[in-house]
Amino acid sequence: MSASTRKAAITGFPVDQSRSPLVHGYWLKKHGLDGEYGRVPVTPETANAFYKNFAASGLIGANVTVPHKEVAAAACAHLDDAAKAMGAANTLWLDETGALCGANTDGLGFLGNLDQLAPGWDASGGTAVVLGAGGAARAIIWALLSRGFTAVHIVNRTFEKAKVLQDQFGSKTKAHAWDKLGTLLGEADLLVNTTALGMTGKAPLEIDLDPLPKSALVTDIVYVPLETDLLKQAAERGNKTVDGLGMLLHQAVPGFERWFGVRPEVDKELRDLVLADLGVTP
Ligand code: NAP
Repeated sequence: MSASTRKAAITGFPVDQSRSPLVHGYWLKKHGLDGEYGRVPVTPETANAFYKNFAASGLIGANVTVPHKEVAAAACAHLDDAAKAMGAANTLWLDETGALCGANTDGLGFLGNLDQLAPGWDASGGTAVVLGAGGAARAIIWALLSRGFTAVHIVNRTFEKAKVLQDQFGSKTKAHAWDKLGTLLGEADLLVNTTALGMTGKAPLEIDLDPLPKSALVTDIVYVPLETDLLKQAAERGNKTVDGLGMLLHQAVPGFERWFGVRPEVDKELRDLVLADLGVTP
């Protein structure tokens, strides 16, 4: 490391559980770059000042995790379209004038994962059923609309939250209560679970896939376990499935490229490294 070492970090509170240093560290080593990626805890009391004075941090850029994605976006002079739509930024950098810029790459991570593991998945757009209406669902709905999906059904335990997303994203989206799921599955080209259901330690996702066409793609953004019950059930009846780990890895790609000048790849070695760190069996 030298005085010219380019430094980036995961910022948020807390940051000790984040896998981002592992991912960026793997890419820095693989490409032999003079860079460093660390952890910078930013308490809620200091978050406003930290992001407003980001240039003084000594970092050339950062990722942002909970609970500061909105505060970070508000501190940016420039936001990409996704961050504007989300009102939240997870990737920051300083432009040539020193102004803070922000992007939201969660949706791109979702797309990058499907592009890699199910090439052609979006060739004809179509109808998606999205389970959940939280932060991840917002990013995924944005991503699906950006790829030309003509109908995105948002099914959530709390209908009002799904309705907020429908109001934000407009006529191609429709909010539903959970009891409408059976009927909606019959129309789906893509089924996405964005709820925490099915994650180790959480309640199971109870779903009857009978009405789902066998041609539909099924993906789950929960990645602990890697093969959730939803994915197992879908694979057993012949649907193509994609697990959620790649979303986590692909959302890191744009930041690394911007900070360190190389577009990194999400390869098997990286997947295995992160799975081992999570204690998950592939
Ligand atoms: P969030 O904003 O807190 O939203 C949670 C969603 O799950 C809401 O729709 C919530 O429904 C639903 N939910 C939670 N418990 C439920 C239950 N018992 N029954 C029915 N619905 C329930 O969280 P998020 O940021 O969107 O993240 C959601 C999940 O995605 C988490 O497991 C997270 O780890 C994972 N994730 C993965 C990636 C990745 O890279 N693979 C990225 C982001 C997030 P209500 O609105 O009714 O509460």
